[in-house]
Amino acid sequence: MAALVLSHPKLLLMTDYDGTLVPIRERPEIALPGPGLLKVLKRLAQKSRVKVAIISGRDLEELNMMLPVAGIYLAGCHGAEIAVPGNEKIKTFDDTELDRVLDEIYSRLLSFTAGKQGFLAERKKTAVALHYRLADPAIALKVVGDFVAAVRPLVNEKELEFLAGKKVIEVRPKAVNKGEAVSCLMNLYPDFYPVYLGDDTTDEDAFKAVRNNGLGILVAGEKKFTAAEQWLRESQDVLRFMQIIAARC
Ligand SMILES: [Mg+2]
Repeated sequence: MAALVLSHPKLLLMTDYDGTLVPIRERPEIALPGPGLLKVLKRLAQKSRVKVAIISGRDLEELNMMLPVAGIYLAGCHGAEIAVPGNEKIKTFDDTELDRVLDEIYSRLLSFTAGKQGFLAERKKTAVALHYRLADPAIALKVVGDFVAAVRPLVNEKELEFLAGKKVIEVRPKAVNKGEAVSCLMNLYPDFYPVYLGDDTTDEDAFKAVRNNGLGILVAGEKKFTAAEQWLRESQDVLRFMQIIAARC
């Protein structure tokens, strides 16, 4: 797979973070990059043949703190904001009313999780997320169901959408998705061969965006229905893939 990618003179290497570059952990704050990952990202960032972008559901500030690597693109909130090396920022989405609506949804969410164990309610810049990895599955089913039913009218009215990931459900604007961020980066570097790696439902928009003239690589323990054309099993394989690319270009 690395040889196939390296047959192109220039590469736009785009990747998700959680579940792709690092294994998913019980709590998002402990999913830190290892020294091997930081080293290969730094090496790739110095190559003129390669542009590296990390596109995550996390907030941009959080990504910045976790990945102190000069010269790479970081896109937060599923690509709503892209930080360009050298501190410039591209906003792919802007809506002043959004803050008020998301505040309301967040306060509703807090009322459903209050006093219950294992839930993490998160107010991101352009989304509200409910993590339930540590919750009792039966209670999680009830809480998620009640929350979705309660905010569905508001979600529909304000052109938001629900997005279910791995033990997390998010409410975010329909107009924001990783495919938009990928298209934006592809427009910046039209002569670079686009590659996208990801593990979750939010990555499918990105796989679709690269499908016609690039390569999508799903990272998953087992094959599943996806728009990606290639497949790696786990983040260790992704690291190896990136190390081969860094060594050969
Ligand atoms: Mg992921």
